[in-house]
This record gives sequence, structure tokens and C-alpha cells, in this order.
Amino acid sequence: MPAETLDQVVSLCKRRGFIFPGSEIYGGLANTWDYGPLGAELKNNVKKQWWKTFVHKRQDIVGLDSAILMNPKVWEASGHLGSFTDPLVDCKECKERFRGDKLLEDKIGVEAAAVLNLDQIQPMLEAEKIKCPSCGANSWTAAKQFNLMFKTHQGVVESEGEPIYLRPETAQGIFANFKNVIDTERPRLPFGVAQIGKAFRNEITPGNFTFRTREFEQMEIEYFTEPGKEADAFEDWKAQVWDWYMDLGIDENTMRIREHDKDELSHYSSRTIDIEYKFPWGWGELFGLANRGDFDLSQHEKFSGEELKYTDPNDPKNKFLPHVIEPSFGCDRTVLTFLLDAYTEEELENGDVRTVMKFDPRLSPIDVAILPLSKKEHLIAKAQEVYNEILDKTDLVIDFDITGSIGKRYRRQDEIGTPKAVTVDFGTLGEDDEQGAPDTVTIRDRDTLEQKRVSIGELVEQLKS
Ligand code: ATP
Repeated sequence: MPAETLDQVVSLCKRRGFIFPGSEIYGGLANTWDYGPLGAELKNNVKKQWWKTFVHKRQDIVGLDSAILMNPKVWEASGHLGSFTDPLVDCKECKERFRGDKLLEDKIGVEAAAVLNLDQIQPMLEAEKIKCPSCGANSWTAAKQFNLMFKTHQGVVESEGEPIYLRPETAQGIFANFKNVIDTERPRLPFGVAQIGKAFRNEITPGNFTFRTREFEQMEIEYFTEPGKEADAFEDWKAQVWDWYMDLGIDENTMRIREHDKDELSHYSSRTIDIEYKFPWGWGELFGLANRGDFDLSQHEKFSGEELKYTDPNDPKNKFLPHVIEPSFGCDRTVLTFLLDAYTEEELENGDVRTVMKFDPRLSPIDVAILPLSKKEHLIAKAQEVYNEILDKTDLVIDFDITGSIGKRYRRQDEIGTPKAVTVDFGTLGEDDEQGAPDTVTIRDRDTLEQKRVSIGELVEQLKS
């Protein structure tokens, strides 16, 4: 059963080293988060699985890693300079600022809030008696458009030249490199370009841990098709993405698909669906799938002056702009979803409650823990030999843990989601028949708690399976 409250996971993340508040020793910086030793492993595993599924296992998709800073014309062409905005309202009493549409979501629903005009927001906040989350007043300014892009300067003189922007999505790096990719890879339609990277949005109301932050990572694909074939590709992607989350263990009752109303669609999209996850505070977007048509390529053609058409390999006279389906995953939201979904509290036969992170083993930060039963030097040396053998013969990530009682160490491994723990004891050394035969160790399974004795010779094969 997934976590019931966000606090359960936030506190486990801090306690065990998955995610720390950003800049903590300086009193923090609101809504910034740092991935700790285990969080970095978990997040890397999520990215690895994504890349493996959507790039390495496919002949029709290639990868890219484009720069965060781009020529500002990119953002003119993409429409972000003109319309990448959210409706900002101020509380007249305490001067706190909020996203007007989000304040209304609980009262009027997500769909209705998303299609409000700017001038409808203030009257509706007052009519629905929406209280300021900070001070409780119901007195709002008129909503104004607030551009979410972070502005900065390139070079040593701040006042010189145009401002540049931290990219608000990774997608535009793919469109800007479309010509480079087709010139070098010569792909045939349909084909995709995938990239994982940071994006920045000056969100008005960040919050809910890593769900909404101003710096986050995306995993995006632009999938190019012949015009007219994008509707099938859309359906295909919807199923593939759903299956990816299912295959990695997300409970299907905690996910749903939400189709955007026509009025809610972004300027570039003719159809959008979100995959939403049932977060402890309610349903929230995890992933978006949009039919962007040829909006981006035609805009970039216009603004850059470069021809971005694809030439039909069977008919060189047939040149056209491909249409695009965009599967866009939030990497941090995906990691948060795996954390929430894996969180389990189980009552044991003796009445104790154990907390276990039931990650799919492909995502667990640590694959196997080696636990010498005591701190006796010759036992640690034997455990070290076992560790070295696994290290030499596999690619597994191994934790060597000698601190605390064996019970405490099992508890720690459960809480960080390590699928297998190997205990080296005096039986292993041939000093205690009751613990086990010489050169055998115990493997403990995280989920079933089953313990089985295997010879060191068999251990590597057992761990690989
Ligand atoms: P929202 O409606 O939640 O603001 P969005 O529709 O603006 O999200 P997209 O532009 O579709 O988001 O971005 C694709 C994905 O990037 C989202 O599905 C989400 O997982 C992730 N994402 C977007 N904004 C943020 C953010 N501020 N923090 C973390 N992840 C984000």
C-alpha cells in the first residue's frame, strides 16, 4: 500500500539520505531539494530504465543532450516569451502571491480552473470566498500574466546584450537540433529524439516536496511522424508510457489518464492527455502527452531562416515538415511517485511494524547488502572477501554495513529498499555449525523475509537471478 501522507516519505527521505532540503546549513532556500547518496542512485536508476526502454531498446529513437542556455530567439519562436505565463494574484492583506487558477481548483475542479480567462479570476476568488492560504483574508488583486522563465545574462557585463533564459523545457533543444540529427543520422520516419535534462520555471506556488519546484528534470521525447499518422502514434505512446510505469511496479489504481478539454490546450497542441498519480494531497500530473503537429518545426523554420523539412527518401521531391507527438515525463515527479508507491508499513508476527521501500529491484539504490554478523576482525575479513567476489563478477551496487546490531541493519536495508541482504556469520568461517555449514552465507529477501542458506560458490548466480 502506498504512503498515506507525504510526511511519511519526506521524513524517510531525510532520515535515510534520499532527499535533503537544499542549502540546509544556511537555513535553506525555499522549495529546493538535494538528492542524497541513495536518492542520487534511485534517480539515476529511473533515468537508466527510461533510457534503456525508450532509446537503447528501440531502433527508431536516438538520444541528445543539448545546452540549457539557448539563443533567446528560440523562446520567441516557441511562444514561451509571449505566452508561457500563469495567472498571478496578490493577497491585498498580507501581499503574498499565488497562482489564481490553482487557488480555485478545489472549489471548481482542475478542468474548469485551467480554462478561466485572466479577468474572471479575481471575481471568482471573491465569489467562491477563497481565503488566502497565508493570512485567511478574502481580498485579491486582479490577476496578471506572469512569465515563468528565469532570465539571466551571458558574459561579464550585465547590462550588455539581450537577456538569455534558463530553458523552461528540454523539448526546444531537440527541435533546434532537428536538422543536425537528420543530417547525421539519416533516420526514416517515424523516429524520435530523446533527452533528459534540467528545466527551470519560476513557479508562483512551488510546493508538495519535489512535486513542484523551480529547478527540475524532465525526460522528453519528440516523436516525428508523417503528417496524418500522428493520431496512431499518440495512441501508441499513451499505452507505452502507461506500461512503463506498470512494469516498474506502480499500482494501477493509483494512476489515471486525464484528457484536456479543447479550451485547456496549450497554444501548440491539438490534443493533450496527462497521466496523473494519486498523490497524498490528490491527483496530480506525472506525465503529459501532446500532439504538437508541425507547430515547433514551422516556427523554428520561420524564425531561424533554416529549412527544416524532411525529404522523403523514396521521393526526393517530396519535402515536408513532420508532425510531432511529445511524451514528456517529469523525472523528479516520477522519482517521487516511485518513493510514495514503494512505501509500505507492515505489521510483523511479533507486533512490531517494519517500514519497507518495495522498489522494483531495477530501481533500488542498493542491490545487495553484505552484513557481517559481528565486528570480529576475521569475520569482517571473510565478509570483505565475499564483497570482493560479488564486485568482481557482477555490476551490482553493494553496501557493506557493519554498524549496529544485525536487527537494526536489516531494518535500515528494508527502509532503503535493498532487495537482498547477505549475512556472513561464524558458520561461514567454519566456527559454528548451528549457524550454518562452512563457506555458506544467508540470503534474506526484503519482501518475503525468507532466509536461505547458500554456498559462497552459488551466491553470485543467486544474486543475479
Ligand atoms: P503543471 O500543470 O503541473 O504545472 P505542466 O503541464 O506545466 O505541469 P509540462 O509543461 O507538460 O507540465 O511538463 C512536462 C512534465 O514536467 C510534467 O508532466 C511534470 O511531470 C514535469 N514538471 C513540470 N513542471 C514541473 C515543476 N515545476 N516541478 C517538477 N516537475 C515539473
